[in-house]
Amino acid sequence: MYLNGRAAIVTGSSRGIGRAIALALAREGADVLVNYTGREAEAGSVAGEIEAMGRRALTFRADVANAEEASRMVAAAVENFGRLDILVNNAGITRDNLIPRIREEDWDAVLSVNLKGAFNCIKAAVRPMLKARWGRIINITSVAGISGNAGQANYAASKAGLIGMTKSAAREFGSRNITVNAVAPGLIETEMTGRLPEEVKIRMLAGIPLGRPGLPEEVASVVVFLAGEAASYVTGQVIVVDGGMAM
Ligand code: NAP
Repeated sequence: MYLNGRAAIVTGSSRGIGRAIALALAREGADVLVNYTGREAEAGSVAGEIEAMGRRALTFRADVANAEEASRMVAAAVENFGRLDILVNNAGITRDNLIPRIREEDWDAVLSVNLKGAFNCIKAAVRPMLKARWGRIINITSVAGISGNAGQANYAASKAGLIGMTKSAAREFGSRNITVNAVAPGLIETEMTGRLPEEVKIRMLAGIPLGRPGLPEEVASVVVFLAGEAASYVTGQVIVVDGGMAM
């Protein structure tokens, strides 16, 4: 299997894209820490599916925006799996509004989870990777971070920031055989996009050459590629998975 013997953390993997990534990594042979904040039962069922594949799974409640919790999560993965090879920074939130209506707390919450959260996890997870001289860090950004999106200034800023951090980390860790890449999904069917007004979805669909929203599994397959040996010479890149929407 492509990821045989590897151990991974997928932040925000109780549902949506993170869940699909956790399951896809496990299907290729990886042990996976399933991180969540509130949905304990859903995280447990993802872990159950992973164990049914014969892999090890660990559920771990941690708010990635909290540096101490992120660091404890990494320690738990290393303790349980004996190693940490792959970090997928997937946890993300939206607090959409037009700029005049974005409250300070909505700006802070989105930046804290989406950008600082990824930083906290990278800072903790890179230590075992540096020691092992092998690592894969994959940050889930968004086409909003590339093109911008009216009503998502806070979210787009956090995702653009994530791209800058991805490229900086790729430069810092390259000499130790640690690659750092970003995956930028377009419109993917999850709870997050389920909240979008119908007219917004119809407008977005009209701009997608493939004519449909994507599935979480279609993002996960790109993450699997980046997480393994086949992507050994790919670093600092943003791979767009959007049915052609943002080209
Ligand atoms: P989702 O369905 O809303 O799921 C979000 C996940 O993140 C949940 O597992 C949630 O845990 C977890 N989470 C939220 N805040 C957290 C925190 N502070 N610490 C740890 N975990 C936290 O979202 P999604 O649509 O799958 O999106 C996943 C990622 O893809 C996000 O980064 C999002 O920005 C990005 N993305 C999504 C789309 C799309 O169309 N869906 C497009 C572009 C990019 P609980 O279940 O415990 O609440």
